[in-house]
Parts: sequence; structure tokens; C-alpha cells
Amino acid sequence: MPLIELSGIERRFLLGDTTVHALAGLNLTIEAGEYVAVMGPSGSGKSTLLNLLGLLDRPNAGTYRLEGRDVTTLTPDEQAKVRSARIGFVFQSFHLVPRLTAAENIALPMTLAGFSPAERDQRVAQALKDFGLDQRADHKPDQLSGGQRQRVAIARATIMQPPLILADEPTGNLDRHTGDEVVRLLEELNGRGVTLVVVTHDPTLGARARRQLVMEDGRLKSDSAVG
Ligand code: ADP
Ligand code: MG
Repeated sequence: MPLIELSGIERRFLLGDTTVHALAGLNLTIEAGEYVAVMGPSGSGKSTLLNLLGLLDRPNAGTYRLEGRDVTTLTPDEQAKVRSARIGFVFQSFHLVPRLTAAENIALPMTLAGFSPAERDQRVAQALKDFGLDQRADHKPDQLSGGQRQRVAIARATIMQPPLILADEPTGNLDRHTGDEVVRLLEELNGRGVTLVVVTHDPTLGARARRQLVMEDGRLKSDSAVG
């Protein structure tokens, strides 16, 4: 059973009296453990695709199966549960909660999911160590560098140990060196079996993935797995 199966996905946005076909009849299968780069020009539908995969958005038509289960027809509450347990999302602009410390940001998904403080604190301490943040646990996001913020974001995305990580231009706000470190962290997770889908317009980063998807006008222009 594939991890992800999209069939006939349509996503339209109404802008004034024109309809933008952000995704137009998209079919896509991703197996567990894959490392996939999504590329293509600005406006081609990359973020729309990732938001749908992350259950942050719904298609106007088509079916999304995650781990064999049709998640398109779930209620918002049910989708939130699936998202919390099965999907980690990393954004270009980090999306940390400004008034929470690094440790509290990382803990947030476990707090919301109702884990016991003991288990939560233990996992957060381990994550701070794993991501080289133990000296930064009590810092707020504005007291952290860009690279540190993105490491907090990745720690938060993985604290629930989801099988799927989605990253939308995760290095877009970082310098080359810091970006490379962030990519290495994501690739380490993939090396341990986590499925990794990364949107990027950086060809060097895209080429590191084992599979490249290229989007154009809401469609898949090419898929290296299909040739
Ligand atoms: P990419 O990430 O590849 O740059 P997007 O997925 O963000 O592209 O956008 C694809 C198309 O859908 C673009 O034409 C964009 O303007 C449009 N679009 C995306 N989100 C919205 C929205 N919330 N409202 C209206 N149009 C949108
Ligand atoms: Mg985008």
C-alpha cells in the first residue's frame, strides 16, 4: 500500500471573476520511505500541493488516500487528528509561536495531543539534544538565528514521530551553509525511514532527492520515477 495516493485532484481559486487552476487533475503515488523533491516555477502549484498533502487545505475534486485511508472526506476534527499524528510540516518562514520558548514550541504538538508532562518533557529534552539546541531551550524565537529557528521547527515537526515530513522551501530564508545543515537534518530523518517531500526552487537541493517532480500550471510536467 502506498503512503500517498492522489487521484484526479483539482484545486481552484476564484480571483475576481477568473478561476485559477492551482492543481488540475493531479495523479500521484508516493511510497513510504521515499525522498521526493517538488520543483517548478513560481505559481505552478507546489505549495498548493504540499498544503493538500498536509491536510491544511482541501481539494475541490479528487481523492487523497493517506496510508490507504481516504482522508478527503474526513471532518476537520478528524483531519486535525491525522495531521497531528501522521504529518510533520516545515515552512520557509518557520511559523514558530513568538511568545513560546524553543522547548515550548517543540513540545506544542504533544501538549495539544494530551501527552503526559513527563513523557513530553523527556522527548523534548531528547529532541533539544538531537538538534543541537540544548543551550537554547529557554530562548524565544527572536533570540534565535534563522538556522536555529528552522531546527526548532523541524524538532516540532518530528516530535510526534510522524511517518511523513513535508517541507515547503525549508532553506528559502537561510544562507547556503545554514540551509545545507537543515537539509542534512531532513535527510537524516529520511535515512531512518521517514518519507520526505521537499518543495524547492533550488536545483542543487532538488537533485539530492531520489525522485524529482516538476510542476507546471497545476500539472505534473515530469516525474523522474515515471521517466
Ligand atoms: P507555488 O508554490 O508553485 O509558487 P502556489 O501553489 O502557491 O504556487 O500557487 C498556485 C496558483 O494558485 C498561483 O496562481 C496562485 O496565485 C494561486 N493561489 C494559491 N493559493 C491561493 C489562494 N489562497 N487564493 C487565490 N489564489 C491562490
Ligand atoms: Mg510556494
